[in-house]
Amino acid sequence: MAIQVAIDGPAGAGKSTVARSVARQLQVAYVDTGAIYRSLTWEALRRGVSLDSERTLGDLAVELKIEFIPNDEQQKVWVRGEDLTEAIRMPVISANVAKVAAYPLVRERLLAIQRTLAEGAGGVVMDGRDIGTRIMPHADVKVFLTASAGVRAKRRYDELVEQGHALELPQVLEELEDRDRTDQSRQVAPLRPAADAVVLDTSPLSVEEVCAMVVALCEIRSRNKEGR
Ligand code: C5P
Repeated sequence: MAIQVAIDGPAGAGKSTVARSVARQLQVAYVDTGAIYRSLTWEALRRGVSLDSERTLGDLAVELKIEFIPNDEQQKVWVRGEDLTEAIRMPVISANVAKVAAYPLVRERLLAIQRTLAEGAGGVVMDGRDIGTRIMPHADVKVFLTASAGVRAKRRYDELVEQGHALELPQVLEELEDRDRTDQSRQVAPLRPAADAVVLDTSPLSVEEVCAMVVALCEIRSRNKEGR
């Protein structure tokens, strides 16, 4: 199905789990745009680049060579021949990524990579914060996933504990709310639903239920396109 699907929403709303599963069901590519901002943040920290320097971060963004490698369970993220899939999920990256992503120069420089990935043959499911509003404004299906802050923090906490991180739930909640505030209040492409997005509160829903709804939306959209 050559369809473009945009999935946006705040941290912990279940975007990547849902996007990955929907892409698999529709047999199209999956692109996690958060991984691009996370990889840039990781690279900046590794090189000791100041996170206060928009220009240096913008230059680093141009050099970022990111590859998404499909894998059975999760997609692998490679930068310059190095597997960063796990490293970019570390709490230190989560704590700094929204600051890096707020710089207009960084966003402008990462736009081209994302648009190229969006245009890839055969359709795509992309998740992020500005996919429906900026990266794929003409996407066939736009979904904005949300959930209460408490539910989102608990999901993220469970994930981190499973990965072996020692954290407290209130700390996870605070960091998540901080990140959302930064994402919602930045000047360029702030986090908000596109005017034509379907907004879905996932708090009372299972992953399977959310995926079934998104797949149904895609099927309806694709039937309408064919019938035009
Ligand atoms: O989706 P994930 O939580 O991995 O995203 C990490 C951060 O990357 C977000 O909090 C946001 O600051 C930034 N981001 C963004 N635009 C996107 C995707 C992610 O600004 N399209």
